[in-house]
Amino acid sequence: MTKKITGIAASNGVAIAKAYKLVDPDLSFETRTIDDAQGEKDRVNAAFLASKADLETIRTKAEASMGADEAEVFTAHIMVLEDPELLSSINDKIDTDKTNAEAALKAVTDMYIGMFEAMADDNPYMAERAADIRDVTKRVLSHLLGKDLPNPALINEEVVIVAHDMTPSDTAQLDRRYVKGFITDVGGRTAHAAIMARTLEIPAIVGSDVATKDIDENDMVILDGLDGDALILPSDAEIAEYQQKGRAYADKKVEWAKLKNEKSVSADGKEFVIGANIGTPKDLDGVIENGAEGVGLYRTEFLYMDSSELPTEEAQFESYKKVLESMDGKPVTVRTMDIGGDKHLPYLPLPEEDNPFMGYRAIRISLDRDDIFRTQLRALLRASVYGQLWIMFPMVATLPEFRAARDIFNEEKAKLVAEGTEVSDDIKLGIMIEIPAAAVLADKFAQEVDFFSIGTNDLIGYSMAADRGNDRVSYLYQPYNPSILRLVKNVIDSAHKYGKFAAMCGEMAGDPIALPILVGMGLDEFSMSATSILQARSLMKKLDTQEMAQLAEQAVDSETNDEVIALVQANVSVD
Ligand code: PEP
Ligand code: MG
Repeated sequence: MTKKITGIAASNGVAIAKAYKLVDPDLSFETRTIDDAQGEKDRVNAAFLASKADLETIRTKAEASMGADEAEVFTAHIMVLEDPELLSSINDKIDTDKTNAEAALKAVTDMYIGMFEAMADDNPYMAERAADIRDVTKRVLSHLLGKDLPNPALINEEVVIVAHDMTPSDTAQLDRRYVKGFITDVGGRTAHAAIMARTLEIPAIVGSDVATKDIDENDMVILDGLDGDALILPSDAEIAEYQQKGRAYADKKVEWAKLKNEKSVSADGKEFVIGANIGTPKDLDGVIENGAEGVGLYRTEFLYMDSSELPTEEAQFESYKKVLESMDGKPVTVRTMDIGGDKHLPYLPLPEEDNPFMGYRAIRISLDRDDIFRTQLRALLRASVYGQLWIMFPMVATLPEFRAARDIFNEEKAKLVAEGTEVSDDIKLGIMIEIPAAAVLADKFAQEVDFFSIGTNDLIGYSMAADRGNDRVSYLYQPYNPSILRLVKNVIDSAHKYGKFAAMCGEMAGDPIALPILVGMGLDEFSMSATSILQARSLMKKLDTQEMAQLAEQAVDSETNDEVIALVQANVSVD
């Protein structure tokens, strides 16, 4: 019998394929006293060789699909295995302690990991070495125990991935040719893995609670990312039904695609801007394919995350230049590094915090580590002559933070000009509005910034005190709650009062229920995952701004999230 589980619909479309579980096997073992030391040493040696063979295959695949830079991490892992000292320490341990291979491996690698971690505060490279050894140990141990480690880079047939959670780096490794979709136990619609699924245009369900428990390796699975349902071991009739649903969605996409070169305009002729959110220059194909009128959010932290050390000014300059040139004079809003929260850098260890989402992150790191910030700003300034550059700062809570960031920007600009480097004189400076304090004080900020970009993903989380990635409180993550709508309205009205531009780059901008309200509030730019653009443009064409202004008024005057959904559904046909 088919089993059905339901989660949060995180990325549209229907996928039907076998399950591939991205779940680590149980690698626990018992410590034993042994007689045959040579036998244990042979086992370690064989496990090292098998691990090296795995890593070489993974590296070759990763190089082909993601490029040499991304594959470098596997070279580092191979080097760990080739270090003669590591193997001889494990052999010594077997001899002296008369202990089994697994226990000797663990004892020796734990010692190295501890040693490197202790040095990590002074030398961030050491934290990375510790992480490499930890990864390699897992692989060698899996061979010793005869268990398979999942290797997403080795997938070579169509699958849907089943995982407890997906980190941004797991998601970045997925090969779209084979990975048809994914389902996780935890996570929310606006967690980064879900956002990346929409960018990759693969269906996804998050926060299902039970996917890894209820789905077995190789089970046939239907993943309905439109409604958040997954069917395990479906019948032929169900497969046919969902294939039809997938085709109907594909047909709609063909209709939307006709709007690729059209303006984003309401039924009564008011023009808006629909931009795209990107994480790397690699996302540009989708941006152009979907007819974006600009890049409304370039999340530059991925540049830092995809690298094994702080990216140089030159490497950053090349990326920014590429994006600006590719957009051919259309505006590109680059957000300075938003590290922290769920986005980590292995080479920049952050302090352990009870609540990293409210901790040391984003502009707070940039102002504290202004060496890193200045490098980024210099790269941006130098790239500014290749297009229309807007820069914004993430997680700004107070005006002094914005002023400090602006001062540093002006200092670096003056230095470059003094050095004779050409920089644009028309760079716009703005802030993300994702902290309620800034949303409330928007009228003060509006007098100093050039633009706002409302980051609803975090703004909703902080306003409702409901973590965006936590499915247990996802019922409180309410984009249409009138309290959120009032904050958004305050930001848009404050911008307009001072003749400034109001954009939104949180996922709400591409949400069909929110979009009519935002059109009614007069939001200037809607920036979203590129794959949502054409659907949004299609919906916008059907809306009258006067009617939507009335709808928006009723919405902010409502009492609950559900009331607003009902209100929009009663007035607008959102398909
Ligand atoms: C946001 O918070 O809405 C946003 C766009 O930033 P991010 O999703 O990268 O946190
Ligand atoms: Mg944010």
